[in-house]
Amino acid sequence: MRRGAITQGSVLKAIAEYDELGRDEFLARYGFGEARSYVVVHDGREYDSKAIAGVAHQWDQGRALRPDEFSGGKEHAAAWLKRAGFQVKAVKNPDWARDEIILACQLVMENGWKGLDAQDARVVELSGLLQLLPIHAEAERNEKFRNPNGVARKTFDIATRHPEYQGKPTNGGALDVAVLMEFLARPDEMTEVARLIRQGIVAGELQGLAPTDDEEFDDYSAPEGRLLMRRHQARERNKNLRKKKIASVTQRGGRLACEACGFDFEQVYGDRGAGYIECHHVVPLHEAGEGKTKLSDLALICANCHRMIHRRAPWPTPAELRASIERKHAADRRAAEAIARPRRAADEQMPKPGSDIHR
Ligand SMILES: [Zn+2]
Ligand SMILES: [Zn+2]
Repeated sequence: MRRGAITQGSVLKAIAEYDELGRDEFLARYGFGEARSYVVVHDGREYDSKAIAGVAHQWDQGRALRPDEFSGGKEHAAAWLKRAGFQVKAVKNPDWARDEIILACQLVMENGWKGLDAQDARVVELSGLLQLLPIHAEAERNEKFRNPNGVARKTFDIATRHPEYQGKPTNGGALDVAVLMEFLARPDEMTEVARLIRQGIVAGELQGLAPTDDEEFDDYSAPEGRLLMRRHQARERNKNLRKKKIASVTQRGGRLACEACGFDFEQVYGDRGAGYIECHHVVPLHEAGEGKTKLSDLALICANCHRMIHRRAPWPTPAELRASIERKHAADRRAAEAIARPRRAADEQMPKPGSDIHR
């Protein structure tokens, strides 16, 4: 049986059976539960996508799939139905990303740490802006995505988490609280971050940036959010800039060595490594606004050190990373000496081999 090899015709048959039996009986007959993540839309009606995809198999493949044989998500059912030409819609909107929470939190701060109503013009404006952010794919959104009601609710989730709020918090997750605490600790910096995200969207600059490779840099590796992180990466991966930076170093007779650990690609890899090094943009994200990248904004950095810098916030500068590498070395050396010392003393007390035998 080839899972997922379903045709449009068989999906239509499954939908017809669903219509005939009614939802409850259709789901019960094939052992499916209600769709939690996606529904398939046909003729203006919504159907549980996993059940439809599973049942469609009986026309194409001889038997219906059981719910435990596949997932309802974009790996399986949702992808198969889309491939068969159907519209698939998310049931639930994606969780708020850090960038989105930053924008909402900034509004709450501006409002004296009070929540705002859905009719408030600032909420309506923010709702429109959030719908433009290139963070969540269209297929992950439903028609209520970041609508004024949802945005207003989020402002209350944030406001009611403020340490001075007297009542019970309405809702909200750990990320809401984390962003709120950052605003309380560094209001100017976070306000500037919000301004940069807004401005990047309004200017159209951030929409054009590709997502970071694997979005492996999650919401905790850049407190400024994914969009400014993408811009950071785009700037340091700019081929022309990197070429110019490398040329400026080699022309001064400098070596292309990592500014943090000293790694030299040519020294280790020979010709294959010659002329290679990465660049890291050293200006903090909340300061790196509009304007051109200067060569002095870029540091030469090896791939390993670059990963380590971006791994967790706050990002160390290359000099800070170098200092921490040196501290680690020194500590390792002391530990090795401490182990070697008693052994050496013990070695000295050992009788020389054969020394008393001939006495
Ligand atoms: Zn390095
Ligand atoms: Zn970097």
